[in-house]
Amino acid sequence: MISPDVARPEVPLAVPSLKPPAASEALEHMNFRQGEFWRAIPAYRDVDEAVFLDHIWQGRHSVKTPDELVATIQDLVPPSFIEDVRAGFHRAPMQVRVSPYMIASIDWTDPYSDPIRIQFIPLASRLLPDHPKLSLDSLHEQDDAPVPGLIHRYVDKALFLPLNVCPVYCRFCTRSYAIGPDTETVDKAQLATDPKRWKAAFEYIASRPELQDIVISGGDTYQLSAKTLKMIGETLLAIPNVRRMRFATKGPAVMPSKILTDGAWLDALTSVVDQGRAMGKDVVLHTHFNCANEISWVTEKAMRLLFERGIFVRNQSVLIRGVNDDPRKMRLLVKQLGYLHVHAYYVYMHDLVKGVEELRTTVQTAIDIEKFVRGTTAGFNTPTFVCDAPGGGGKRDVHSFDYYDRENGIAVYSAPSVKPDRWFLYFDPIDRLSPAAQARWREPGEQVAMVRRAMAAAGGAA
Ligand SMILES: *Cc1c(COP(=O)(O)O)cnc(C)c1O
Ligand code: SF4
Repeated sequence: MISPDVARPEVPLAVPSLKPPAASEALEHMNFRQGEFWRAIPAYRDVDEAVFLDHIWQGRHSVKTPDELVATIQDLVPPSFIEDVRAGFHRAPMQVRVSPYMIASIDWTDPYSDPIRIQFIPLASRLLPDHPKLSLDSLHEQDDAPVPGLIHRYVDKALFLPLNVCPVYCRFCTRSYAIGPDTETVDKAQLATDPKRWKAAFEYIASRPELQDIVISGGDTYQLSAKTLKMIGETLLAIPNVRRMRFATKGPAVMPSKILTDGAWLDALTSVVDQGRAMGKDVVLHTHFNCANEISWVTEKAMRLLFERGIFVRNQSVLIRGVNDDPRKMRLLVKQLGYLHVHAYYVYMHDLVKGVEELRTTVQTAIDIEKFVRGTTAGFNTPTFVCDAPGGGGKRDVHSFDYYDRENGIAVYSAPSVKPDRWFLYFDPIDRLSPAAQARWREPGEQVAMVRRAMAAAGGAA
């Protein structure tokens, strides 16, 4: 029997209040876009929920050309915007592909500053010249590939790229050297893949006992058929040295409804996760949300289903100008992910990628945002901000530079456990520097001198 003085009070009338009630901003992360929001798009006006959520419909109606965009959004934007898109498509280094879910998540009353438009639809008027230090495969992944499509850079983990297609194409993709173009419709993607190449990758992994951790990236796990996903998963699980696997997919951010409507795919993933658990091996999903505008009730429902299936999800964002390079926007995303039980794992500095200079930010911006975000939620839901150092140094904590010349935008990193005795340089976008620094970057001689000075300040020639 519970005595009255230890029983919980039914109405906490006089709870001492150390803090004022939370501002509505502190609860914002629990509000998800509701309703049939897609009906605001002219082409989707008569599309009901069952059709909109169907992953095959989503794949078939993805927008790949300016004409398809015009047919979809019709008079939501002025003709001048469409002209800007046409010119932008023409100059884009990356194939364009936008899912209907993403199209319906864009605020078409303000497409120039919409964070989803910025990620997927190039506009000629916004392009900036590339940084002079930019090269196509800036991460030098090819140098660390013992077999094509398998990158073995870190001692105990490898990145397996089974295919080169995705449900959308991100303008800022690091692997624009390998990803797309394609003309496939949803389920044909695996035909473009090469089982012989995969076999060589599996044999390499099995031959290296130090390899414990395999990232299956892409392309994108969403584009693997259920059968292929299961085959890759089971083959890797059967390799004794493999202890951990992560399936990487942009899918939950850009087409969450596939998790709800492609039962065969979800069952295949669940089966690999369950088999792994029974074998004492960890199998998780890695995804890629960049801003709160990507998240709706559909996302909430899909993430709930993954959670119920016991599928752990981690998120890797890219820091993108105009998308999430704002402390409050990043905090909202991080809190929203935590609410959805998605572990906010990394925020990456935008790689030095061709043709998207207007999307990059400075290392200082990342440091400032990290400082603001840390402390607002659980530590395990707080992302680490990293710079995947160009040249193959791997991911470095943005704060861990050996030297940072803020004036000229040169951060110098070292990576003793990845590639000892070398410096790795990250360059801030030039348009964010002072006019004097911008002028220096126009002089090839000055470029060499600035870089040399930064490396000397970091500790001499490595
Ligand atoms: C990012 C990456 C990994 C995984 O690194 P984690 O820090 O463990 O997430 C593995 N291999 C390559 C080549 C990578 O770029
Ligand atoms: S989904 Fe990933 S791999 Fe595909 S284009 Fe986007 S960033 Fe690149």
